[in-house]
Amino acid sequence: MTDRLSRLRTLIDEHHLDGILIQKSENRFYFSGFSGSTGIALVTPAEAILLVDFRYVEQATGEAADFSVVRAERQLVDTLGRVVRERPIRRLGFEADTVSVKLHADIGRTVAPAELVAVETVDRLRWVKDAEELARVRRAVELADAAFTYILSSLRPGAVERDVALEMEFFMRRAGADKEAFETIVASGPRSSLPHGRAADRVLERGDFVTLDFGSAYRHYMSDCTRTVVLGEASDRHRQIYEVVLAAQRAALAGIRPGITGREADALARDVIAAAGYGDAFGHSLGHGVGLAVHEGPTLSPREEARLAPGMVVTVEPGIYLAQWGGVRIEDLVVITDTGCVPLTQAPKELLIL
Ligand code: ZN
Ligand code: ZN
Repeated sequence: MTDRLSRLRTLIDEHHLDGILIQKSENRFYFSGFSGSTGIALVTPAEAILLVDFRYVEQATGEAADFSVVRAERQLVDTLGRVVRERPIRRLGFEADTVSVKLHADIGRTVAPAELVAVETVDRLRWVKDAEELARVRRAVELADAAFTYILSSLRPGAVERDVALEMEFFMRRAGADKEAFETIVASGPRSSLPHGRAADRVLERGDFVTLDFGSAYRHYMSDCTRTVVLGEASDRHRQIYEVVLAAQRAALAGIRPGITGREADALARDVIAAAGYGDAFGHSLGHGVGLAVHEGPTLSPREEARLAPGMVVTVEPGIYLAQWGGVRIEDLVVITDTGCVPLTQAPKELLIL
């Protein structure tokens, strides 16, 4: 935590701030250790203060050892205003992507004459994971891998998407997950062309592609995995499309290494899919960072100029989606190493015909 705070203070220096407000729950937890749902942290070059309401005073005092906990009276923002005005704070940073228009107006009024300064790079301080974070992500991946193995015996014609999702989530919880990392996706048959098809009432049929996108949260850290299987028998078209996606994913896994940009990483897979004639059918980014949030930076996308660095954890998830017919996505979670990347996901990814 001390190292995290010192990196946040470097950001404060770089933006010529006198302090910064941390409100996003993942960031609040990352810098303070406080896991409650409400509270605002104020970090200055000399102090770290956590403002919470009555419900969280005891919890925050126990969890946020490096912070002085201040109990908010009435409104959090009023207490924040008093705390800020008692200190020599003129330029006060806030997380540009988190603070709502209303909260910005309320805070602006209570901290005046301090000026609020939008900061867009706080989340980046979470991109490179330390050993403890990696251990938790690994466990979250193991729980999801085990859920995939477990569910294979239930993937049969006649099963219902919604039940498949529920069984996977129940399995992960029972095995020790905090919860599912996001709403489990089960998209079968023609619905498998929906990249984020929520599990519905559809009954699985012979000849379906079934796309499962799932993950668990373990001690606040997420995992994210996608597998696509086929039921009964695979047509030539099933096999051909699956092989293109798998080849694209393998090309990306072989080429991803520190120093390349998110755009260059994305192209490793996109070029394979485009060369096979399916460029238009791969309409999303290749991947995204995963940690305290299931979608965080850096992205592996045609617009990402940030460079990969050892310790980052990202997904590699090319897909092909053909409307009215079906789709395939294969998603692994990988950690960037000094020389390349290593997959954390161990679930099998040759085409499974169940
Ligand atoms: Zn996913
Ligand atoms: Zn993903």
